[in-house]
Amino acid sequence: MRRLFVTTALPYANGPFHIGHIMEYIQADVWVRFQRMQGHEVHFVGADDAHGAPIMLKAEAEGLTPEQLVARITADRPRHLNGFHISFDNWHSTDSAENVELSQNIYRALSAAGLVRREPVEQFFDPVKGMFLADRYVKGECPKCGAKDQYGDACEVCGSVYAPTELREPRSTLTGATPVRRVSDHYFFRLSDPRCVAFLREWLATPGRLQPQVANKAREWLEAKGGEPLADWDISRDAPYFGIPIPDAPGKYLYVWLDAPIGYLASLKHYCARTGRDFQALLADPRTEQIHFIGKDIIYFHTLFWPAMLRFSGHKVPDHVWVHGFITVSGAKMSKSRGTGLSPLRYLELGMNPEWLRYYIAAKLNANVEDLDFNPDDFIARVNSDLVGKYVNIASRAAGFITKRFGGEVLPVEAGRSAGTAAWLALAEAAGERIRGHYEEREFGKAMREIMELADRMNEAIDREKPWELAKDPAQSRRLHEVCSDCLEAFRRLTLLLAPVLPHTAGRAAAMLGLPLPLRWSQLREPLSGRIQPYEHLMQRVDPKQLEALFELPAPEKPGTAAAAPAAAQAPGTPRAAARIGIEDFAKLDLRVAKVLTAEAVEGSSKLLRLTLDLGGEERQVFSGIRAAYEPQALVGRLVIVVANLEPRRMRFGVSEGMVLCAGDDTSGIYLLSADSGAAPGMRVT
Ligand SMILES: [Zn+2]
Repeated sequence: MRRLFVTTALPYANGPFHIGHIMEYIQADVWVRFQRMQGHEVHFVGADDAHGAPIMLKAEAEGLTPEQLVARITADRPRHLNGFHISFDNWHSTDSAENVELSQNIYRALSAAGLVRREPVEQFFDPVKGMFLADRYVKGECPKCGAKDQYGDACEVCGSVYAPTELREPRSTLTGATPVRRVSDHYFFRLSDPRCVAFLREWLATPGRLQPQVANKAREWLEAKGGEPLADWDISRDAPYFGIPIPDAPGKYLYVWLDAPIGYLASLKHYCARTGRDFQALLADPRTEQIHFIGKDIIYFHTLFWPAMLRFSGHKVPDHVWVHGFITVSGAKMSKSRGTGLSPLRYLELGMNPEWLRYYIAAKLNANVEDLDFNPDDFIARVNSDLVGKYVNIASRAAGFITKRFGGEVLPVEAGRSAGTAAWLALAEAAGERIRGHYEEREFGKAMREIMELADRMNEAIDREKPWELAKDPAQSRRLHEVCSDCLEAFRRLTLLLAPVLPHTAGRAAAMLGLPLPLRWSQLREPLSGRIQPYEHLMQRVDPKQLEALFELPAPEKPGTAAAAPAAAQAPGTPRAAARIGIEDFAKLDLRVAKVLTAEAVEGSSKLLRLTLDLGGEERQVFSGIRAAYEPQALVGRLVIVVANLEPRRMRFGVSEGMVLCAGDDTSGIYLLSADSGAAPGMRVT
């Protein structure tokens, strides 16, 4: 029996989960559920990454303490995790007593080993706010091209990279104040120490520890093949900072990236205390395998800093770090910080079945560091054809006859009873071993393909046997009973093979078939017998309308709310005035006159029109929810007003690159805003 300690990367607690988190949780959860089915001991934990300046500042802006902000975000976690059937044994936070103790102990141990050094660092300091400014909190003019309003690390106009102190006319984005240079002592973890380098070489060289492309990448950094030598790591931040105090260093805190991975251990420790386990013994046990699932953006931290921190503080080092790619939607990269495009919460709120997504993601995952594309049409096709059309169909074709004709009694399986089903059982025998290997290797796509091939073969056998024909002939009753019993045996095996991906459906199928719970892989060898419960439909098909709603623009549904009437003139029924803004807020909007070049209805949507707009030499595609109010042809040639600097939004039908302004309300309809004659496409509205 294996003993597995499995984690997923810690999400930053300044916002809700996005689809990238959910994909990672599904990947890890499928693997973990598979291991539990093998009878292994699994401890699967997660936690919120709660520290750092962004959370401190966001909380301050909302008039909350950081703890209150984090509590608000984490309160929403179970809705997502339970919603997608993610079976963490524990969820904790890096802002916890366990993490403070573990982090400070690890820091002390590294310091005692001579792996921490102190060095003065000059940085920008905001004299109004009284804090040091990270690069992203400084803006100014690019030292190379003079472009205004550029961040402290790189120019978005000319692409130059520089230090924030090189900016011209620098200012703090927090207060607008001119920052001053100030020197402060920082603490560095000596990753460049020969001991660290020697250890990491050995750790990276262990066969099978990492995916080959990940090990190669880490080795490049370690051996400075990319040109940049391995740098020591700045692990301290000055007060004010939301984090863990560095022992014996007043006013200094551990950088959030140091205490975040220690949160894996803190969550395990919390879980051990909660369940009466011995944390130290569990970690010290050489049989315990420590496995981290992470995304490709945090390889550096998890393959260099993290193993070295653990090794030189006397802890167990990770056995595996399994890296996945990003999730794209219809081929476009999703922004991690924005989290737009495919909202997991909206998915659940629309009543979409979480197992559809689990299956779709599993079917597209492999063991490589590749991006995974969510394509709405592919999603509909796969779920409807594979899960409903192939897998569930086998039960629905056979169970009714067993219940109505044979009192729910299943005949024991005997090989050779019907040519088709006997051949199928032999196929399933061999495939089961291969599928186990695919799950173990995280080749879920291969596993799903093999399972669906088995389902195909069984459906073909049913087509040959034609139980619906047998049912018409009383003389064929025995044969009907045999064929339908074989179908249910096939369905039972497919259910076991799919259980890591479809835990909920597998549970319901198990109840119908009378299988003992929890489901175990070894049950593949225990043929169905006895009486089944009446069949109830196990899974609905995806309705394309749900996908449409998932990617719908929320804004055009309620036009006019932005252009509110003055509060004094407000009559009953008119929209409430929005809060006052300064002219600088208004100036952030890039409103343009645009000319409609083409307009057409969007197939599959009752609300949207697809518009091609001329913004004065630039063409844009915009989706607008005005189909109910306008005939597409009547719009061609019209001038409209467009929000031109809205983030492009990916919808099921394509990308919308702006928003067309309308007035209106729920009862009176929708009215496009226009410009007087003389206005030309591209003109700015000011
Ligand atoms: Zn520049």
